[in-house]
Formats: sequence, structure tokens, C-alpha cells
Amino acid sequence: MKVLKFGGTSVGSAARMKDVAKLICDGEQKIVVLSAMSGTTNSLVEISEYLYKNNIAGAYERINALEQKYFDVIEDLYSTAEYKVEVKKELKSHFEYLRSFSKSVFTLFEEKAILAEGELLSTTIFQLYLKEKGENCALLPALEYMRIDKNAEPDTAFIAENLTKQLALQPDMMIYITQGFICRNFYGEIDNLQRGGSDYSASLVGAAVKADEIQIWTDIDGMHNNDPRFVEGTKPVPVLHFEEAAELAYFGAKILHPTCILPAKLNNIPVRLLNTMDPNAAGTMISNQSKKGKIEAVAAKDGITAIKIKSGRMLLAHGFLRKVFEIFESYHTPIDMVTTSEVGVSVSIDNAKRLDEIVNELKKFGTVTVDREMVIVCVVGDMNVENIGFQAKVVNAMSEIPVRMISYGGSNYNISFLIKAEDKKRALNALSAALFN
Ligand code: ASP
Ligand code: MG
Repeated sequence: MKVLKFGGTSVGSAARMKDVAKLICDGEQKIVVLSAMSGTTNSLVEISEYLYKNNIAGAYERINALEQKYFDVIEDLYSTAEYKVEVKKELKSHFEYLRSFSKSVFTLFEEKAILAEGELLSTTIFQLYLKEKGENCALLPALEYMRIDKNAEPDTAFIAENLTKQLALQPDMMIYITQGFICRNFYGEIDNLQRGGSDYSASLVGAAVKADEIQIWTDIDGMHNNDPRFVEGTKPVPVLHFEEAAELAYFGAKILHPTCILPAKLNNIPVRLLNTMDPNAAGTMISNQSKKGKIEAVAAKDGITAIKIKSGRMLLAHGFLRKVFEIFESYHTPIDMVTTSEVGVSVSIDNAKRLDEIVNELKKFGTVTVDREMVIVCVVGDMNVENIGFQAKVVNAMSEIPVRMISYGGSNYNISFLIKAEDKKRALNALSAALFN
């Protein structure tokens, strides 16, 4: 069985939904994971903001506008009056549900229930559309099988067991449609896998059914070898190792949510990135295989803060790094890059919310310097130690750029540089020129 995920833009209008239907109705059995129609989750966040502020009129205005948008989609999507009437009735109940929140206290719990509506709407509309077309299809309710545990980590055993049950309830369907993003938490409340989490859903579903392949359909032709917003002539990378893709996804390639990699990697299920606008394009194939001896791609992550702690006390001492890392841990701030010398350590973080408190505590251990507005540029490829000269080539390409930190050897797949934001475009172009042309 294959699992195919279509993002918000791919189901963003009646026309796009028709394209998706054409793509998936090929006589092969599959599970299709859908996001909310593009813009919907943002609208639901906005509606929640009005409800938090108890601005009922504001919330209703937004709900009504969203409802009208959906009614327009229905007019364009379905061809029979019978279906239009039935689906509108169904949608009305969802919008009545949204309006009902104005009568209760509004907390995070209610907000999560509201956010879940986006995927519930898109899947309902799409499944009924397939039904109208005469396809043999069914809805798999994600809230019945997708669950996170106390630590907000997916409960994979529960997911596999209950997804299997849901499939058995409606056997022999050609196409199963299910919601991305939404789940229940440990307490049985409606929750979600965080913004952009539909990719994660697809990967978890794929792992649960031991899929042959997970396909993530977007509107770009795969992961590019550099950021097309800053570099001209970038190209899709045909083949990536899971670890290379994870680095790229985390360090800026927006096409794939970084969390999506792990379940697929653990279960050795290839992930293919494909383009709904150009379905025959090769896209990017992510698996446990990598191309040997090749530098594949470059990505950049903005909004990085670098912190240097210099201390004579570090010299010949042990336990210094632990103390430093513990401070970051106690403020729930993950560290991205680390470089050390005998008298100091530099780290980078992308969440500077607790920076002042962290710096204040670090001052116990040494002299602290902070650099803001930094960027991590990450070069991904087969960086095995045996490949002599690879790091030299990459470092050479950066010869005109002031580099604050370099990280190499953390994995076999990447070299990262920390540079100033103002040098980002220059660095990305220099790397493309040296590595890919
Ligand atoms: N609809 C959710 C969001 O906009 C999840 C997703 O699209 O992946 O974040
Ligand atoms: Mg997305």
C-alpha cells in the first residue's frame, strides 16, 4: 500500500481538488492524507484569537466568510444538485459547531478543537467528491487512531493497532482518505501534530501500515540543491539519504516538515517528494540509500543566535560542557551547532526567547558574547571521512565570507557554517557556483 499526502495548496480550490482526484484514481489501493485547504488553518487561528478576546462579532464575521468560501468551492466542485445540497448540509453542521464556541469559556483546549476543523472539512469535501464520481472510497477518521502520548510524542503502537481496526471496518476500499495534522492526546482530547504536521501524519500512517512508499505531493518538483529565492538555476535533487533530507528539512528546505523523516527512516520506507503541477517530474527520492561521493544540496536557516562562553576554567577541566548544556536544557532551549576549543565553547540556538536568562546564568562560568541575526548555512552530501577533499572544497567556496563557526564531523552527511545574515545570499551563491556548476 502507498500513502500519499497532499498539502493545503494541492487541495486549495475546487480545480486543484479535481487535479488530485485525477492523480489518485489509478486503480491502485492507497491511503490519502490531506491537509486543510490553504489558508483555512490560519483563518481558524484568527477565529480563535477573536474568541480568546471574547470578540464574538469578530469571530462570527470570520466564520461566516470562511463558510461562504467553502460554499463557493462546493458549487464549483460537485456536478449534481443532490450532492451540492447534501455536502452543504454537512458543512453547515461544521460551521454551527465553530459558532457554538462563542458560548463557552475559551482555552487552548477549545482552540485545538477549532484548528482540527480544517482537515475535517477538506477530507469530508474530498471524499464526497470521489463518491460522487463513483469511486470506491472511505474516510478514515484520524481522531480514532492518531494519538500522542504524555510527552506529545506519537504513540506508534496505538496508531498501528487502531489504524488497522479502522481499515478493517471498511475493507476492500480502493482509496482511503484521512486527515493530516489532527490527533488526540494522552487524555483523549483533540490535539494536533503542530503546524505543518500533515507530513508527519503521512509518515506515521505509512509506518503504521508498513507502506511500500510515502509520497508527499506539493507544488514544487522536489527538494532543490539550493534556495531558489536567493540563487538562480537551482535544481531538484533526485536522490537523498534520510539523514541528508532531515538536515535539509530542518535547515530551511520548506518543502518537507523535518519530523516526517524519522518514522519513515525507522521503518525503512522511502519518501518521495512529488509535484502536483508536474506529476511526471522525477521529484526527490529519500531513502536509506545515498549517492556516494557527492555533495547534494545547500540550505540556510535564519534567525540564529550564537553564544560564546570563554573561560580559563575550562582548561583541563571536566564537566564544563555539561554545566553549560544544563543551563540551556533548564530553559528548554535546544542547541543547534556546537564548536569547542580548550578555552571556550560556542553554541547556536534558534529560539532566543529565554536568551537573557540563559546569558545571565552562563556568566557564572565565563565571559559571554552574543551574536544575533546569524544564519546557519548547511551543506549536505556524502561527507564520509574517506572522501578526501570534500570539506576543503566546501570551505574554499566560503573563502570570501566571514565565518563565525564551522561544524564538521557531527554526521557523515553535513558541514554547517554560521555566518551573518547579511552574508547569506553571497554565501549561498558562492557555494552553488563552486559545488554544482
Ligand atoms: N493544516 C495544518 C497547517 O496549516 C497542517 C498542515 O498543513 O500540514 O499547519
Ligand atoms: Mg505543509
